Amino acid sequence: MDKISINFVYRTLAKKIGEPKTELNYRNPYTFLVSVVLSAQATDKSVNNATRDLFKIVKTPRDMVDLGERKLKTYIKTIGLYNSKAKNIINLSKILIKDYQSKIPSDFKDLTSLPGVGNKTASVYQNEILDIPRIAVDTHVYRVSNRLGLTKTKTADQTQEILEQITPKRWLKTAHHLLILHGRYTCKSQKPICDECVITKQCLYLKNEKNKKNISS
Ligand code: SF4
Repeated sequence: MDKISINFVYRTLAKKIGEPKTELNYRNPYTFLVSVVLSAQATDKSVNNATRDLFKIVKTPRDMVDLGERKLKTYIKTIGLYNSKAKNIINLSKILIKDYQSKIPSDFKDLTSLPGVGNKTASVYQNEILDIPRIAVDTHVYRVSNRLGLTKTKTADQTQEILEQITPKRWLKTAHHLLILHGRYTCKSQKPICDECVITKQCLYLKNEKNKKNISS
């Protein structure tokens, strides 16, 4: 996709969506990191439901370690993979206390060395809390980017690399949210709602679908 079209895609999505922000609820950088770890393969809504009560009593790594893995599980048991997530959250909290004076490191390598924190989680954290423009790639960002033709990639990491190269500086900070929200509510996985889409002219997927129909008719 050329530069003008890429700019048009982001500008048009921003016009429709407004000033996008995370849909995860949190109280401070630590609780945000915990929420993002919990959100892997789970909806933001399910995470918010689970953390509503958890974050009334847990605000720091020390609170979490004091709560313990068994009790943590009772708060998050409605979220997928809660057993491994609970283990990771307790372990990362212990490391934060031991190595970082209970603060969250800002360096990408340090972040991704924490249990349960991969590239996506670290990028989401840097973007939201540290204001570092990163385009974290989840299932929505991956799907939308490839459907539109912004990228032609096989993995999330490749997608992030390409998106961060081709996205104009102006949109680097918000691109992640714009693509997620477009994927969550319009460019859905099973049935994209193309009739309501504001970027149909730039969409490679739609163009290919139309070509297929023309050939078969
Ligand atoms: S036209 Fe359809 S497939 Fe293309 S981005 Fe819009 S919703 Fe997604």
